[in-house]
Amino acid sequence: MKTIEEILDDKIKLPTFPAIALRIIDAVKADDASMSELTKIVSSDPALVARVLKISNSSFYSLPQKVDSIQKALTILGTENLKNIALSFVIVNWMKSSSGESFNHETFWKRAVTSAVAADLISAAIDQRSDDIFITALLQDIGIVILHLCLPEEYLRVFDEKRVTALPVAEVEKKLFGYDHQEMGARILEKWGLPEAIYMPIAFHHNTKNSPESFSTKTQILWLSDRMSSIYHGAKCAEQLKDIYRTLQRSYGFNEEDITKIIDAVAEKTVEILSYFEIDAGNMKPYSQLLIDANEALGKLNVSYEQAILELKRSNERMEILAIELQAANEKLRELATKDGLTGLYNHRHFQEALEKEINRSLRNETPLSLVLMDIDNFKSINDQYGHPVGDIVLKRLAATLQETIRDTDLLARYGGEEFSVILPETDLKGGALLAERLRRAVEVLETTSEDYSIQATISLGVTTYAPSTGSKGMTEFITAADKGLYHSKETGRNKISLVNMSTG
Ligand code: GH3
Ligand code: MG
Ligand code: MG
Repeated sequence: MKTIEEILDDKIKLPTFPAIALRIIDAVKADDASMSELTKIVSSDPALVARVLKISNSSFYSLPQKVDSIQKALTILGTENLKNIALSFVIVNWMKSSSGESFNHETFWKRAVTSAVAADLISAAIDQRSDDIFITALLQDIGIVILHLCLPEEYLRVFDEKRVTALPVAEVEKKLFGYDHQEMGARILEKWGLPEAIYMPIAFHHNTKNSPESFSTKTQILWLSDRMSSIYHGAKCAEQLKDIYRTLQRSYGFNEEDITKIIDAVAEKTVEILSYFEIDAGNMKPYSQLLIDANEALGKLNVSYEQAILELKRSNERMEILAIELQAANEKLRELATKDGLTGLYNHRHFQEALEKEINRSLRNETPLSLVLMDIDNFKSINDQYGHPVGDIVLKRLAATLQETIRDTDLLARYGGEEFSVILPETDLKGGALLAERLRRAVEVLETTSEDYSIQATISLGVTTYAPSTGSKGMTEFITAADKGLYHSKETGRNKISLVNMSTG
């Protein structure tokens, strides 16, 4: 493993520190000529001039007048400031171009610029502004770039080790190399001729407690600026926030609102500054905006949650409608199964079932049960004379009339072709006879008319009563008895009723 001295002694080929940067540093050292010398150096590089003017006119400095020359920038911003702006550009540009492929310079410098902006804003907020705070924060992790340049293979192990152990980068470096990027950065900056005010705070930015007293505030600003940068570019955002709030509240008496303002301003200003460094800011938004966005996303999630509930409600409603439709369909099916299609009366099958039930009930309750069977007289001749369809019409009209004539408790069915039956619960023979006579009379007076015909039909009926007291007899015998009565009515002239007493006959 190479020692830090070997790296510094250039045993490992470091990219040559840009001559223009050296000249800028030297110019400021030479007091008298510094103003005109610095102007001359910066002006010799048109790209640098453009950038310096851009940043001088940016919202970062919020100058009251437009800066349109380096001379003016120098008088308004001061020698130190101009030097640092120019140096920042030169060093970042140089580092960006002299790199191995495995190192992501874009990301590194995006983080560094964010730190620099944060350091500047924090130092202003705590009344500790210094001209070189921006460049100090910008270069605080330059040791990482140098280590990566000199030990590309070895340095990859730092990332692996950090992933595994979750230790801070500086500790992993120390473990692997015996020194860390703080020391490396400070030493190289010293070698390049940058002032103590810059490299000393860098040497302690992860170990603020060990910093010499004279640099401790700046060191702490660096540490805070690193946290703030991590809010926007790193993981564990919540932890960084906690550190920042706690430090600024305890050490400087800031309230939460002030701190949030600084954190937001970091993003706003960084986006602008990054563009002067020609670094893509990506989707960098103020922290408060990030929170609003997150809440909005959450809101959308709630909306979709509500929508899901709405959908559920709708599908429940649909289910209910379906259930009702299903019920209706089932009823229809039941009706189809129990009713006669032509007349709408109960069919023969239902009649059989109903009669069986009524017989049982009659036996149970010892109540009388009467049955009427009827048959249209000479219906064949109606069909023959007017045709089958007209016969159908007569059948329907007759069925409706019968239905109107019976009581609600009675059950009328189409027993066969032109035969009908009525079950009369809790009705003795006398009552059955009365109803039978009413039916006969209703049909007799019924006229089925149209333009072409006027038809009057009659029915013959047989009535019998099931008397439980006379001993239980089967359904067939019950029907047979009623049929006997019907037959008797036919035999004896039609359009009449005949009573059959089951016990006797
Ligand atoms: P009776 O007085 O002896 O009962 O004479 P009838 O002609 O009514 O008796 P028959 O049993 O000879 O004829 C029954 C007729 O009823 C024959 C059949 O075509 C007719 N018929 C049965 N069902 C229907 C039907 O649904 N529609 C029509 N139009 N006619 C039917
Ligand atoms: Mg008939
Ligand atoms: Mg018949």
